[in-house]
Amino acid sequence: MLDFTHDPAAQSWVASAQLPGCDFTLQNLPLGVFVPEGRDPHPRGGIAIGDQVIDLARLAASGLLAEPAAAACRVAADSTLNAFMAMGKQSWRALRHGVFHLLSSQADGRTQEQMRACMLPLRQADMKMPVDVRNYTDFYTSLHHAVNVGRVMGRENPLTRNFQWLPIAYHGRASSVVLSGTGFRRPNGQSATAERAAPAFGPCRRLDFELEMGFFVGPGTQLGEPLPLAQARDRIFGMCLLNDWSARDHQFWEMDPLGPFLGKNFCTSISPWIVSMEALAPYRVAFDRPAGDPQPLPYLQDAADRESGSLDVHLEVCLQSRRHRAQNLPGDRLTATSFRHQYWTIAQMLAQHTVGGCDLRSGDLVGTGTISGPTQDQAGALVELSRGGTLAVSLPGTGETRTFLEDGDSVSIKGWCEKPGFARIGFGECRGEVLPALDFGVA
Ligand code: CA
Repeated sequence: MLDFTHDPAAQSWVASAQLPGCDFTLQNLPLGVFVPEGRDPHPRGGIAIGDQVIDLARLAASGLLAEPAAAACRVAADSTLNAFMAMGKQSWRALRHGVFHLLSSQADGRTQEQMRACMLPLRQADMKMPVDVRNYTDFYTSLHHAVNVGRVMGRENPLTRNFQWLPIAYHGRASSVVLSGTGFRRPNGQSATAERAAPAFGPCRRLDFELEMGFFVGPGTQLGEPLPLAQARDRIFGMCLLNDWSARDHQFWEMDPLGPFLGKNFCTSISPWIVSMEALAPYRVAFDRPAGDPQPLPYLQDAADRESGSLDVHLEVCLQSRRHRAQNLPGDRLTATSFRHQYWTIAQMLAQHTVGGCDLRSGDLVGTGTISGPTQDQAGALVELSRGGTLAVSLPGTGETRTFLEDGDSVSIKGWCEKPGFARIGFGECRGEVLPALDFGVA
């Protein structure tokens, strides 16, 4: 699974890619879609390296890549990455290998000069949605999150009986998936209180973030065709950071007896750069089930998935309030955890999604569900950190506290992988800001 592109000793002639803490190293090569500021307004695919972005439309026209990498580059240069995702593993790998050689410090001076003509600084790239997301599904695969939320909801048994038997999910709303940096209005809706017979209508009072990762489907499947778990891994193109903003008061009122609706459909943010599964390969870890837990049913079991189906991705969430910004402060960290604690793997999620015959399309977005680690300070949402709004979470930078999000709060998710013997790779950032609710003129 590992090859020369994972060699930690490999360096790029792009000097910024070697700086400590750089997310976009030579071993990463994440893909996104951008418009070069002040130039041609047509969106095109790009690959980030250090503080630069490679314009894949220019690279495709440069003649620098040989086949089959050149063909893959022409498709990846499109205004969305859907067609490139549909090409499959061989093409993804061809482009990765071809670009790696061109960016490697082994590349000759003439190649470097030609590559520079295909690149621009990241700060001059106006990032766009990388994928035309036609379907969005959100899973619920953190046992710690499920237990924490179950407790907040006052359930006698916080974990529902199905949780350890299948990866639970609901079909989300693709139209309101937005790119990092997009603000959204605090949603209006119905919420119920124990004291009043009728529900109240108004701005959400329990607005929350959810720390998640997203992954994108590569080659699709046919209607009626289940995807075996052993084949699911090769159908996943790569991953991004995802914030599944949630209106808890609306959600808890409306989702009885069906699933989430307005509590979840007003905004979902994703990071602009998609890190390929190929780049993530060194960070695969064994899928670890606590002793005594039920074993997955046969269609959710696979030797390779058990051996390396989980991923060790460090994740953290920061909140920057208006007061932080006024004082020029970066914000305070709310939580930090790893994706490796999830109870189900991303391949199991795809196998579950298709086992009844539901088809997948290239570029479909799948959310992993909130990522909460085993301890309270590793929880991936405010509803858990504040124990349902009963515990004030402190923001030491400004001395403020939060139980839920306030207007002007900007939430940033960061993710990266590092371990001895391998190069660091990172996802960049997924950020979004809460704007005041629309005024309906009603109490
Ligand atoms: Ca979610």
